Amino acid sequence: MRILIIEDERELRELLEYSLGRVGYQVLALDNANDALIAVEETAADLVLLDLMLPGLQGLQFLDIFRQKRLMTPVIIISARVGEEDVIKGLERGADDYLVKPFSVKILEAKIKAALRRAGEREGAPYLSSGGVSVDLESHAAMRGNEVLKLTQKEFDLLTLFLKKPEKVFTRNQLLNVIWGYEADLISRTVDAHVASLRKKLGDKGSRIRTLPKIGYLWAAKE
Ligand code: CA
Repeated sequence: MRILIIEDERELRELLEYSLGRVGYQVLALDNANDALIAVEETAADLVLLDLMLPGLQGLQFLDIFRQKRLMTPVIIISARVGEEDVIKGLERGADDYLVKPFSVKILEAKIKAALRRAGEREGAPYLSSGGVSVDLESHAAMRGNEVLKLTQKEFDLLTLFLKKPEKVFTRNQLLNVIWGYEADLISRTVDAHVASLRKKLGDKGSRIRTLPKIGYLWAAKE
């Protein structure tokens, strides 16, 4: 598995490169996002670790460009910014997960493993459909009628879960556990942000995702 690290702090970059290399990943570590854009053209990374404050092209700008090219590759934000706003912005723009610096390398490794496992699980499964929306897990395509939807990985995972179990109530914690794969310091706004952007992309079908105040969400199969 190949991991692309974009981090301008030399010490952290070298620590990550060393730690992840030691547990068997092929690591490409770069100190700026401009070079990273060229690198992803040349070699496909299986996962990206992205710092937000960078010299030149900023992390969120990189994320926008990267997501247009590679919809499904997991991106984990590593950021010194503690502001919730930046995290939400990153998640809304297609990041899958985040870690606030300073963080433990063990936790990062667990998050990487979980993200790669979820990416792998999406392969080789069937076709699901409900209420005019469908997902083809083999080709990773989500459709509203005949229209292909551009979803991030997490949005795709959420939609898949909803379509697997229409009318089932999912609490935010259940969604965190199933989609993000582990229990951590994730905030429930993580779930809300992803549901909100999925709803938006589903257009007139977005209302199929019903909010149950203080509980969670469900997919309504019928109007
Ligand atoms: Ca930085």
